[in-house]
Amino acid sequence: MNLRIAIQKSGRLSEDSLRLLNDCGISVKSAGSKLRTQAENFPVEVYFLRDDDIPQYVQDGVADIGVVGENVLYEKCKNVEVVKPLGFGKCRLALAVPRGVEYGSVASLEGRRIATSYPFLLESFLRQHRVEAEIHEISGSVEIAPGIGLADAVCDLVSSGSTLFMNGLQEVETILESQAVLVKNTELENSKEIILRKLLFRIDSVQAARR
Ligand code: ATP
Ligand code: ZN
Repeated sequence: MNLRIAIQKSGRLSEDSLRLLNDCGISVKSAGSKLRTQAENFPVEVYFLRDDDIPQYVQDGVADIGVVGENVLYEKCKNVEVVKPLGFGKCRLALAVPRGVEYGSVASLEGRRIATSYPFLLESFLRQHRVEAEIHEISGSVEIAPGIGLADAVCDLVSSGSTLFMNGLQEVETILESQAVLVKNTELENSKEIILRKLLFRIDSVQAARR
């Protein structure tokens, strides 16, 4: 039986996810228009999905394991097991306010409107700091919200910070440091656990060689 592994179809994690499999000696070609593909020389089948759907699919056992960013994983709150950090897809979920706005602490966001695609993580962060703010959930281009008068602040993913900069924003708080992780279904059958262990062994070697 095959181990079914879910990776992002097209986006920032796709290339590194495929490269990891290939470096593990598992030959799979990139998605193209396909939803899934069978590796030629290892008992895995690769499913190409939107990253947001991966935690759910792994929880439900539609896929056995998956590669997803911690940001998405913790936002979705699904019941899956983190097996291993993968060292790519590094970014942080951060709060940013328009440059020129004076920012003292989280408390200065009290009563403000914050645009984000990560309402759960933002809500938890604000609760921790006992701050009440209006969370406006939007699915993309969060960084333009302050410029068009839709929000006073944003909570968004950042890597270099250039997108924030270009939109006149300054980063003021880090909410979560994130990277891609390998997750697995909590009730894998024995035969699949065995394939997973082989895969993990290869990933360890690849990671050791990269260091
Ligand atoms: P999909 O169509 O699969 O839903 P997407 O547009 O939601 O794609 P991408 O922008 O491809 O997602 O990002 C996928 C993941 O890459 C993010 O969830 C995050 O874990 C990681 N990532 C790394 N750096 C960044 C960055 N600077 N901005 C956004 N995501 C980043
Ligand atoms: Zn997505």
